[in-house]
Amino acid sequence: MELSDVDAPKSDRPNILYIMADDHAAHAISAYGSRINQTPNIDRIAKEGMRFVNCFVVNSICTPSRAAILTGKYSHLNGVPVFNRFDGSQPTLAKYLQAAGYYTGMIGKWHLFSDPIGFDYWNILPGQGVYHDPVFIEMGERKKHQGYVTDLIADFSIEFLKNRPKDKPFFLMCHHKAPHRPWQPDAKHARMYEDVDIPEPPTFNDNYRTRSDAAREATMRIDRDLTGTDLKQDPPPDLSGAALKHWKYERYIKDYLACIAAVDDNVGRLLDYLDQSGLAENTVIIYTSDQGFFLGDHDWFDKRFMYEESLRMPFLIRYLGHIKSGTVNDGMILNVDFAPTLMEFAGLPIPSDIQGHSFTPLLRGENPKDWRTAMYYRYYHYPQDHRVQPHYGIRTERYKLIYFNKIDQWELFDLRKDPRELNNVFADHAYAETVKKLKDDLYRLKKELKDEDQFANGVPKDAP
Ligand code: CA
Repeated sequence: MELSDVDAPKSDRPNILYIMADDHAAHAISAYGSRINQTPNIDRIAKEGMRFVNCFVVNSICTPSRAAILTGKYSHLNGVPVFNRFDGSQPTLAKYLQAAGYYTGMIGKWHLFSDPIGFDYWNILPGQGVYHDPVFIEMGERKKHQGYVTDLIADFSIEFLKNRPKDKPFFLMCHHKAPHRPWQPDAKHARMYEDVDIPEPPTFNDNYRTRSDAAREATMRIDRDLTGTDLKQDPPPDLSGAALKHWKYERYIKDYLACIAAVDDNVGRLLDYLDQSGLAENTVIIYTSDQGFFLGDHDWFDKRFMYEESLRMPFLIRYLGHIKSGTVNDGMILNVDFAPTLMEFAGLPIPSDIQGHSFTPLLRGENPKDWRTAMYYRYYHYPQDHRVQPHYGIRTERYKLIYFNKIDQWELFDLRKDPRELNNVFADHAYAETVKKLKDDLYRLKKELKDEDQFANGVPKDAP
């Protein structure tokens, strides 16, 4: 079957296994060139499929990203700009696939406050859930389970696959809680980095010298804002300054990476199950995360900002015989594109109110001339939990322009010259023309996407 065969017989439609971690940055995956860990099972999806290097989130925080993925719409239209209750009466990817005859499941972290709708089976964590001996809500019924959350989510996912009706294709969203804060590993992986020193990232000592006040205001710094719960140990009393900061980084990153090791093992279990059950050939498998994360980059943990480490999502996809193995794609794709792409796999038409675009042409190895070259981003949540100023902006292949709308401050990064985003050149006269052009494009995109400041005032004075 070609991906473009939208009229293909229903029996040819692939199964879809969508695996999503929570806060797993691409730069903590070895297929993405991680300097700090190995993820052999996740890497298998990259080796046997396609790896996207420019997949971006439109609002870098858990609940809003999940709503954007389900609806194919930006936060200002899906009703979830911050931690809002998701209105399950609106159309979603799951509802469309279910109506088209897919057997649909949602297992793991849901975090949209209302009950899942559009799923034949669901078994979710309440809220954030916990790592050890978690409660799950199975079809409305709360049950406490013994074990580690990442293993349990994979167990329940394999059970779902075993028990599914065999006369229907399936769509399973397998959503891990890990590696979300407070980064509690299981016993198997807790000490795996005990004897190594994880290198600090190159921007670990960023002093925000050229930046807006937003960077200085944010309370998510490694040296200052990790709590006792995060660190889990008291620092040695003789440490101070850079040595203390390094100790905190090691405590943080080792637990974060140990949580990822369990996710990686369980991705391997699911891949093995697909192989053993004969499902590998006709199943599209995706590995992604709800957003990126700062791994000590810019002295931060957490996400929210439009800077690269937080904006970029890992996105790996395998469909044996249809997507060429071991390919890397630098096309710009967004989390709002996931729903229309998967709907096209299912042979469904894409409703005109969906804002994302199906990237099946990119999966076929095509390079469509009209594919996007710029993306719009908007973040709202303030002041909780880390005092990250609301902002919106545009990222093109070369530039990123960010407007912090509550404090009326701008940042411009020339990503070709400054890929680490250390040097804000907004006020540099050499970039005056670039700023003008980017502002025009920003306002055009904002308008096209119908973002008319439904949830926040703060349009700059020079906006048209
Ligand atoms: Ca998240």
